[in-house]
Amino acid sequence: MPEPNHNIKDDAEPVILPRSEHGISRKQIDAQALKVLYRLHRQGYQAYLVGGCVRDLLLGRTPKDFDVGTNATPQEVKKLFRNCFLVGRRFRLAHIRFGNNQVVEVATFRRQPGPEELPEDRGEHAFFVQNLFGTPREDAFRRDFTVNALFYNIANFEVIDHVGGLADLKARRLRVIGDPLLRFTEDPVRMLRALEFNVRLGFSLDEEAREAIYARAPLMADAAPARIREEILGLFRNGVGSAVLRRAQAMGLIGPMMAGYESDEATFALLEILDQKALANDQIDEAEIIASLFLNRFWRNCPVSAELPISEVLQMASLLLTAYCSYYRISHGLRHQAKELLVGCYRMARGLGRRGERRLLRHPMTPRVLELYRAWLKANGESMTLAMCWQQALDQQRQSGKEANASQKTQQPRRRPRSRRRRPPRTAKPS
Ligand code: ATP
Ligand code: MG
Repeated sequence: MPEPNHNIKDDAEPVILPRSEHGISRKQIDAQALKVLYRLHRQGYQAYLVGGCVRDLLLGRTPKDFDVGTNATPQEVKKLFRNCFLVGRRFRLAHIRFGNNQVVEVATFRRQPGPEELPEDRGEHAFFVQNLFGTPREDAFRRDFTVNALFYNIANFEVIDHVGGLADLKARRLRVIGDPLLRFTEDPVRMLRALEFNVRLGFSLDEEAREAIYARAPLMADAAPARIREEILGLFRNGVGSAVLRRAQAMGLIGPMMAGYESDEATFALLEILDQKALANDQIDEAEIIASLFLNRFWRNCPVSAELPISEVLQMASLLLTAYCSYYRISHGLRHQAKELLVGCYRMARGLGRRGERRLLRHPMTPRVLELYRAWLKANGESMTLAMCWQQALDQQRQSGKEANASQKTQQPRRRPRSRRRRPPRTAKPS
């Protein structure tokens, strides 16, 4: 395998790994993605697996999703698949939908425009950049990291590498395609992705990229909050939230990307427990992430020893979440859940035997509150006794609820529902 060339030349030949020299087998590829690849290929289009799935297959990992790249335009793809929907206002993509909610994403190869091609209005650049179709080679160069730009060709099962990604994969190195300073300026979210892959794959981040992150960190404030929100959710669903945010904070990314938020050791420890949960294949929801980000700060503002009235505690929880939730345009429902989690933890920390305990035990959020409270105690090495008492109370309440239901059923014989149909008015029979 050739050594990576840090100044990747645009005219260099790609490195091609024939079927016999790599371990990707079609058995590892999702059946629906294979269907899409084959149909495109049979219709005379180029059809490649692209992006993270090729990287993961070569590493022997299970890909999260299988993305397809092709020279067919989105409209042409739509004509080939009845179950195809064109999505994305800026980046037109074809989604081929299958039963069981599965989607195979098909993107037409794109290219980076030259500076002279860009429209004068800077606001139009992003739109323009994302919609210029190109060759597979150009498509590889517009991607973020060399290991994310490998292609698998369904026509001959070859792996194609235009950017030195195979050598980087072997060296377990994460390298930005092109000049990191430019690529991070172009799209600041790539900085967060760099830290994510650094942690997720355990690949080293090269010095040039590291320095560029320090230099360009403030640009994170310009990135679309919706994209950052999506990336943050992805971090926690992949079980790397704590480690990535820790690095992001050390490199000055957190403040600009999270509306001035700053984390602390106790919070990172709590987020680690959330990550362990995700790694054990448990569902993580966003309200839980938000509440975990703010729980330590919440305790500082509402110490249990202060015996604050609940109305004040509720107000404080709302206030704490305002900047973050407004920045990411988090819905009222979700914001409310995060607040309930915080205030619920406060109620639990006060101990049992308080007013409103029965209502709390019956509240549908309480099991989630207890989970968060327990995680908090664990993260801080505190005694779990109180959490265990709450668990017992919750179990008892459930048990007595079930019994009450059962006895209600046996005591009250079911009444037949009264017929709603009105009898037709009696009319005198004609004699
Ligand atoms: P995973 O899906 O396992 O999280 P991935 O590498 O597939 O990792 P996606 O977010 O699914 O990540 O993106 C698919 C591909 O699109 C990437 O592999 C990369 O080639 C390209 N890509 C994604 N985001 C960017 C970006 N901001 N700039 C350039 N290329 C990107
Ligand atoms: Mg992917």
